[in-house]
Amino acid sequence: MTFVFPPPPQASVAVAGSTSRFPVRRVFCVGRNYAAHAREMGKDPEREFPFFFMKPTDAVVDDGEMVTYPPRTSNFQYEAELVVAIGKEAIDTPVESALEHVWGYAIGNDLTRRDIQMEARDKGRPWDEGKAFDRSAVIGPLHPVSAVGHLSSGSISLNVNGDTKQDADLKDLIWSVPEIISILSHSFALKPGDIIMTGTPAGVGPLLPGDVCIVSIEGLGQLSTRVEKAKQ
Ligand code: MN
Repeated sequence: MTFVFPPPPQASVAVAGSTSRFPVRRVFCVGRNYAAHAREMGKDPEREFPFFFMKPTDAVVDDGEMVTYPPRTSNFQYEAELVVAIGKEAIDTPVESALEHVWGYAIGNDLTRRDIQMEARDKGRPWDEGKAFDRSAVIGPLHPVSAVGHLSSGSISLNVNGDTKQDADLKDLIWSVPEIISILSHSFALKPGDIIMTGTPAGVGPLLPGDVCIVSIEGLGQLSTRVEKAKQ
């Protein structure tokens, strides 16, 4: 087979302690998965069924990379998140065996054009422009389950220029990792390479050009991103 032009490179995420990379197939994101964050977004944190949105695979950005302040927003925000990578097909998978499908875990930063997202939300429109823009998914090196086990508790925090902005615990996830995988697998045939960003705790806020944003998750280390001024 030939292509009419060269196909784009395969999007991928780094793997801790390896030169091999994890090929990314899809990026799923969970909305409002910590009660205190649902409250700060003006929503009832009752355990309503989770909802999902997606980012394109080529939105993925590695640890330590610069992110240019994106266009069309004046409220560019960070969201610290635990990232789950799927390594084995999951279709109609029960909660009890869902973790068998996890390849590894990483730290993520779900970058958001909050003003555009809120306008879309309030008008009942899709979130894509607020959430799925270029370079909107910072994902650190994946740590294989064989090295770090499964994460159900432990500190998740974020600082901007050294000031702590988010400080929570993974045990406060409204929907746990196995529950999210099970629910998603009843709606999509999950395949190796699929990535899930599991939602952010309270304390979301803006990033400005020059800021350095660091996300930490106990057992996974740190994820660092510097925001660069847009070129005119
Ligand atoms: Mn998020």
